[in-house]
Amino acid sequence: MTQLFDSPSANVPSPNLQSPAPAAESRLWIRNPLAAFTANGLDASGGLVVSGGKIVEVLGAGQAPSAPCGQTFDAGSHVVLPGLINTHHHFYQTLTRAWGPVANAPLFPWLQNLYPVWARLTPRDLELAATVALAELLLSGCTTAADHHYLFPAGMEDAIDVEIGAVRRLGMRATLTRGSMTLGEDDGGLPPQSTVQTPEAVLADSERLIREYHQRGDGAVIQIALAPCSPFSVTKEIMAESAALADRHDVRLHTHLAETLDEEQFCVETFGLRTVDYLDSVGWLTDRTWLGHGIHFSDAEIARLGAAGTAVAHCPTSNMRLASGTARVLELEEAGVPVGLGVDGSASNDASNMILEARQALYLQRLRYGAHVPVERALGWATRGSAAVLGRPDLGQLAPGMQADLALFRLDELRFSGSHDPLAALLLCAADRADRVMVGGEWRVVDGQIPGLDVAGLVAEHSAAARRLVNG
Ligand SMILES: [Zn+2]
Repeated sequence: MTQLFDSPSANVPSPNLQSPAPAAESRLWIRNPLAAFTANGLDASGGLVVSGGKIVEVLGAGQAPSAPCGQTFDAGSHVVLPGLINTHHHFYQTLTRAWGPVANAPLFPWLQNLYPVWARLTPRDLELAATVALAELLLSGCTTAADHHYLFPAGMEDAIDVEIGAVRRLGMRATLTRGSMTLGEDDGGLPPQSTVQTPEAVLADSERLIREYHQRGDGAVIQIALAPCSPFSVTKEIMAESAALADRHDVRLHTHLAETLDEEQFCVETFGLRTVDYLDSVGWLTDRTWLGHGIHFSDAEIARLGAAGTAVAHCPTSNMRLASGTARVLELEEAGVPVGLGVDGSASNDASNMILEARQALYLQRLRYGAHVPVERALGWATRGSAAVLGRPDLGQLAPGMQADLALFRLDELRFSGSHDPLAALLLCAADRADRVMVGGEWRVVDGQIPGLDVAGLVAEHSAAARRLVNG
């Protein structure tokens, strides 16, 4: 196996460790940024002080740190954001990007053509695919990623373990969701029989993953959630049993819902229920749940989701590529639904780029609601909103006590030349790459690169794996 990193594992910060009061040398002042978006109205013109993996001070204009800082980073050329948080992805799909046979297809035929290809996935394929997806996300300013992995053909039983290895090597945070498919073609579902598992296998592995990996509380690096794939690929029984298991272990629930009108029609024909009634009928209409897409809801359904506190991962690029529809994001938020952003899997948004996804969200929602939708609102979805979607009150804002997860962008490329407002320029001029990214107080991107990652070697091996996969 080719070694993609200089060292076998990155120096990953441990969560939940109480440390004594840090000395000056451990305090870092990220000083006087060109601009900062805090996601909470705080003024960070003077910068931030980071210590012990957390933000300990947010400084207004002209303010200096309250105690000496042994290290200073001059951010005068940088726009500082909370680390971006991706709430919906399928890492393995980086192997089937821009695949000709489905380049111009809507969801159901797109899936039916891809399932047999995906059924050939191997653990090494997934390791390469997850590393590619995570590296892309990290370079775009993302510090926490959620992945929805629901493919467990024979030989792929350790898929989530493989993903966790990739997350740890890159030094990011992640919510890995143990997905499942239990309703195959033989029983009226969409996926081929070789890709579905028994409910017993799904539940046993879900429980194992929670026990082995799920971390709780501030600073958690790895979290596990339970994620039956979609109404047309799982039984109602596995939905209900997953909800009960999540309740017992206090972990979150995730699934695709209300992505297309085909799906709505499937629910009405198969269950005699619209999507939100279906969700309610299996015990998922709670604040433990976040939904991928959440497009086709009536006014009454939006009100029910808001009252329950059920969250939505808005995936604008995927929704445009597959022509699935436009999520009613402002109305969802106004009803009380937490909304974050997801790039979605790389077979339906072929780029895993979070800062560009914030731009797509801004523009798609402007098409729906008008040009007054502010840039800051889109940045809020990608940060504080996404943190709420994943149930992470310690992430997504620049404030004292929050984790020191940061994305810093420079505006000195050609594409920004002539721009005026730095925050607006990030989205309107299409920033696509962070210059520096910090996770838990550790720099994971420096000068636009991931230290120690052999990108050329990764691309070569991943591309070969992708060709092998589609050629059978
Ligand atoms: Zn998806």
